[in-house]
Amino acid sequence: MFTEADATNRLPKAIAAANHIREVNSEIGVEPEIADVNNSNIERLIEGCDVVIDGTDNFATRYLINDACVKHKVNWIYGAAVGSYGVTMTIRPNITACLRCLFPEPPPAASAPTCDTAGVIMPIINIVAAVQVSEALKLLTGHEDDLHQSLMQFDVWRNEWRRISTGQPASDCPTCARHEFVTLEADSSDFAAVLCGRDAVQVSPSHPAHINLSTLGERLSAAGEVKLNDYLLRFRTGEFEMTIFQDARSIIRGTDNVATARSLYAKFIGN
Ligand SMILES: [Zn+2]
Repeated sequence: MFTEADATNRLPKAIAAANHIREVNSEIGVEPEIADVNNSNIERLIEGCDVVIDGTDNFATRYLINDACVKHKVNWIYGAAVGSYGVTMTIRPNITACLRCLFPEPPPAASAPTCDTAGVIMPIINIVAAVQVSEALKLLTGHEDDLHQSLMQFDVWRNEWRRISTGQPASDCPTCARHEFVTLEADSSDFAAVLCGRDAVQVSPSHPAHINLSTLGERLSAAGEVKLNDYLLRFRTGEFEMTIFQDARSIIRGTDNVATARSLYAKFIGN
């Protein structure tokens, strides 16, 4: 999906991925979207989809996708990898168990290794993705009987492969049985989040916004070094580096302190 040139050009991942998919097959329609998936936009993003394939890196977002897909009856194919281990599961709302049926609560913070602390090796990503895409093909062509109907786990280093049958929705699952979609209803006022292991904090605007990056760049150039492309602005000031997107979201590197990040955001972007 990504090359060194994409990194050098500071392309957002969504744009770089879309470019490569178009190079592979120009007949495929691709609509990249540069956004932080959260409860203010997930329902719009999945609306009208036949299937959602997930490649996210944190449990909060997975439970958010789970709630949105069960609520809107959209199939979703969960997949994750860390180290040499990978896992995938296909969720058909009201027909199969959902993520919360199997795991009522996300694991406690910092209890599981992450790609930042443990890394990941490429082949496990290919295996998880291959199973996810095969499942998507079965769903899209109406071959539901051929779905693997399990939690599939692989470890390409320890040579372990395991399948646990997932079955039907649990009768006591808050999501499937009681239609309580807690992650969709959560208070979204908490708009700053520390990005694990990256010495960075993401700050999102409290209201939807659209920023003219070149105008902002002109303003900020008096206070530090500014680099700009069509999708984002990078601004370096002192020991901090701020990446600012058109939707006014910013990733602030050089601190893991939310208060510091919020004050930099207020000072240079405003709120
Ligand atoms: Zn459930």
